[in-house]
Amino acid sequence: MSNGSYYLYECSCGRRWEVRKIRAIMRDKDDEQCHCGEDIVSWNGGVMYRVKLVEDKNNK
Ligand SMILES: [Zn+2]
Repeated sequence: MSNGSYYLYECSCGRRWEVRKIRAIMRDKDDEQCHCGEDIVSWNGGVMYRVKLVEDKNNK
């Protein structure tokens, strides 16, 4: 997976997430949440997203 587009999401709790969009063959409906409970991304369709924690100011 090298051609996916991604962006950084900065949660209000201070954590930063890399959000990567992935083309899905099957329809997919799901969401990802920060450890604090806030929504990072949700989707419903022929895509899905992977999130990766890149910075956690609360846990250094
Ligand atoms: Zn958060």
